[in-house]
Amino acid sequence: MFNRFIASILPYFPKKFIWIFSRPYIAGETMEDAMRVSKELNRKQIMVTLDVLGEFIKTLEEAEANKTEYLNLIDITYKNGITGNFSVKPTSFGLLIDKEICHDHIREIVAKAASYNGFIRIDMEDSPCTDLEIELFRKLKTEYPGNVGLVIQAYLKRTYQDIKGMQDLNNPEFPLSFRLCKGIYVEHESIAFKKYEEINRSFLEDLELMFINKNYVGIATHDKPLVEGACKLIEKYSVPKEMYEFQMLYGVTPKLRENIVSDGHRMRVYVPFGKKWFGYSTRRLKENPKMASHIIKAIFYKG
Ligand SMILES: Cc1cc2nc3c(=O)[nH]c(=O)nc-3n(C[C@H](O)[C@H](O)[C@H](O)COP(=O)(O)OP(=O)(O)OC[C@H]3O[C@@H](n4cnc5c(N)ncnc54)[C@H](O)[C@@H]3O)c2cc1C
Repeated sequence: MFNRFIASILPYFPKKFIWIFSRPYIAGETMEDAMRVSKELNRKQIMVTLDVLGEFIKTLEEAEANKTEYLNLIDITYKNGITGNFSVKPTSFGLLIDKEICHDHIREIVAKAASYNGFIRIDMEDSPCTDLEIELFRKLKTEYPGNVGLVIQAYLKRTYQDIKGMQDLNNPEFPLSFRLCKGIYVEHESIAFKKYEEINRSFLEDLELMFINKNYVGIATHDKPLVEGACKLIEKYSVPKEMYEFQMLYGVTPKLRENIVSDGHRMRVYVPFGKKWFGYSTRRLKENPKMASHIIKAIFYKG
């Protein structure tokens, strides 16, 4: 209760204070920071997916600027020899302002990645975006079959059917590529599972469906029981190593991450960076209010 209260008022605290918490979870403000952290992770045999932090945009000029930033990032990343790909949030490219312009921007980003034989993951946002983001993915997957993937949220009740509905895009040469996560937004109980057990059950059912269909899956979770459940399914379906990977957020549950890597599974870390780190940080704090009390302690207990 106390943690929740602290988490809810943190956005009103000075930025410097939030940075104390944020530093372990964000690569930094610049592309150089993103490259440095990516190289460190690559050295540990961990792949990355890079995300330029952004806030909710209001104009198409902002969408254009975001596209330009990603195009530069792709050049810099591959020229630095980083083993990684990129995650994009379609609303940052104008999805809710002008759908066609957003499609054009993300198509250009996918085309740029494809020129390096690279890959773009379309993050899934809140439920008003679900149909729009599936539609965008369908289009791009047809045009760039090996260079684009989609995030799927296990907490949505519609998800199992959505996975089935996309199987027409699956083929052995270019399998569907999903990142499966629980889902981070606050959704109404009429459309979303709310209980921990329900969400976890749904996650494993979705994962099993993906394995049965021989889709590529990024298993994105820090939840140990889910990691264990996923490992059982990998064994049950003899899923080859090149058909799945685990994914985690930068700085979260590093011990579990290490264990997964040392067990021989592939791992990718989501590395957010950019000048707009503040909004990302406060969202993460609200998601995991327990951390708020650690920050408060860090302020009062010196040394
Ligand atoms: C690589 C990646 C990409 C993602 N992309 C999307 C996306 O596109 N759309 C979307 O809706 N959601 C996305 N998410 C977020 C996801 O939906 C969950 O909200 C988030 O991962 C927490 O769920 P969990 O599976 O880790 O389990 P939880 O039950 O939430 O957490 C299990 C345990 O992990 C630890 N933990 C979890 N989260 C944190 C945290 N933030 N800080 C510190 N410890 C933590 C805690 O110890 C916790 O007890 C992504 C997550 C990952 C890992």
